[in-house]
Amino acid sequence: MTTPAFGRFFLPGPTDVHPDVLAAMQRPMIGHRSSAMEQLLGGLQPSLARLFQTSRLVLVGTTSATGFMELAVRNGVRHRALCLVNGSFSERFANLVRACGKDCVRLDVPLGCVLEADVLRDALRRTPVDAVTLVHSETSTGALQDLEALAAVVHEFDDVLLLVDAVTSLAASPVETDRWRLDFVLTGSQKALALPPGLALGVASERMLARAKTLSGRGLYFDLVSLSEAMAKHQPTNTPAIPLFYALETQLARIDREGGVTARWRRHDAMRRRVEEWCERRGVAYLPPEGRRSWSVSCVKVPEGKSAKQVVGALKEAGWTIGAGYGPLKETTIRIGHMGDHSVAALDELLTLLGGILA
Ligand SMILES: *Cc1c(COP(=O)(O)O)cnc(C)c1O
Repeated sequence: MTTPAFGRFFLPGPTDVHPDVLAAMQRPMIGHRSSAMEQLLGGLQPSLARLFQTSRLVLVGTTSATGFMELAVRNGVRHRALCLVNGSFSERFANLVRACGKDCVRLDVPLGCVLEADVLRDALRRTPVDAVTLVHSETSTGALQDLEALAAVVHEFDDVLLLVDAVTSLAASPVETDRWRLDFVLTGSQKALALPPGLALGVASERMLARAKTLSGRGLYFDLVSLSEAMAKHQPTNTPAIPLFYALETQLARIDREGGVTARWRRHDAMRRRVEEWCERRGVAYLPPEGRRSWSVSCVKVPEGKSAKQVVGALKEAGWTIGAGYGPLKETTIRIGHMGDHSVAALDELLTLLGGILA
């Protein structure tokens, strides 16, 4: 098998991992109860806090992102949650609420759309719940919620926690954990952070932690209380994926060298705008409306007479990878995952090729 060059793998997760990050994983193991581990975990915190725009502890766990979605539900939903559903991952959040034995009230909006703040306010007035779940950047449709506005609405209601999946927004577009008062915000390693899969990261508010302490059924692996206590001492709860911690350490240093998370937001914004301009020039239709588009994944409609499978296959032959549509949009849309360490220049090359294939 020949290894393709870095920078051509635009799948909306897992995304391309830089060779320096991959190389970091080859370091020898350390004991997970050693002082070397405490130094490693403690050393990550300042960069992680900047990434999440928080002064709170950032939790790191060995699990895919769905594990921290489950953690959010087990530790954050008392009896009943309002679940905003606008695609496959937000639907997963709703299904998780039910799977954990809690009541789920779904608030569905059409695929490609987001929920507007006044609609959320009306729903919360009608429906007494103790938590709200939502996906900030819905990777299956490329739609980006106005998280700041939605968070403000949730805070108009007493004792309602806001649980946020920011898997393809965090490190790609603004997520202001403290300023927006998010109760739980989570991401995974293999999307906008451009690490290999296997880690989940999250931040819990004070009131989320206080609520968790009152809930039974938190389980063990996803118990926010014990995880927070261990992480405060820079210790893992179990044997973690140590090589992924090395990769995270290297990637956080690379992010700081780029100019921090804000420089990263700007690069992702530039990539998003590139796709928008290309769509306009080519007469290709974007799925989500203007102003509600993810900065890390662009979902566009395949023109009449072509299928997503054909388009993805033709690019594959040229050595480039993008995603087909997801779920019900599988055949009719394609998704470009311009997240992580991708550059505007490589994206331009991809769009030129794609233009030829769609013509
Ligand atoms: C990929 C993704 C997930 C699930 O991540 P896993 O690491 O596969 O569990 C959840 N939410 C969103 C928005 C995603 O893009």
